[in-house]
Amino acid sequence: MARLSSDAKRERRAASRSCGTCSHCCTVLRVDELGKRAGLDCKNQRGELGCGIHETRPAICRGYACLWLQGGLEDGERPDATGGIVDLETVGIGLRLGIREVRRGAFDDSPALQAIAERYRSEMPVRITDAEDVMNPDRPFRVLLPDGIEHRLSGDRIEILRDGIRIEQKTLPWAERLGRRVAIGGRRLSIWWRNRTLQ
Ligand code: SF4
Ligand code: SF4
Repeated sequence: MARLSSDAKRERRAASRSCGTCSHCCTVLRVDELGKRAGLDCKNQRGELGCGIHETRPAICRGYACLWLQGGLEDGERPDATGGIVDLETVGIGLRLGIREVRRGAFDDSPALQAIAERYRSEMPVRITDAEDVMNPDRPFRVLLPDGIEHRLSGDRIEILRDGIRIEQKTLPWAERLGRRVAIGGRRLSIWWRNRTLQ
């Protein structure tokens, strides 16, 4: 894949990169050990000072590295410069670029995030989610595909756009609707159970 950096280049870039003053993943990630919900600032964030419990921070915080920190993306595309954290996500046997906005509307306000999406969308789907209401398993999201095609999903409805202009609107096929309901039911149950055990 032309757009993906070679392993050597990525390793070289990763070695020279650090989070610095960025703490966007501390807002976006869910941290069960702290009862912290995804999309909300962590109570241990200390601005430019970093994490207030750095030495004892939970495993998910120690283990997480966004694509930029791993040496992907360009130097100026650290999440605090773009407004969203970016990950390569495995979906089945393929890959997807996941962009999670730190604040709602960040993607539309960020030429840098849009440039990243444009670089990748010809090679893999680019999924954009906002950081609000992330506990809602039914929240809307967008998927950018090649040739200017974009899918906007909200509930059982899908809107298809080309170059930003809506060309079709339809209800998902029944099998996908059924699959969604089963998945949503399962996720709601697991959210309820997690909240219960965190009380
Ligand atoms: S989003 Fe990336 S660069 Fe920013 S703090 Fe998290 S891992 Fe570091
Ligand atoms: S515990 Fe520290 S590293 Fe983990 S989310 Fe909170 S501020 Fe970030």
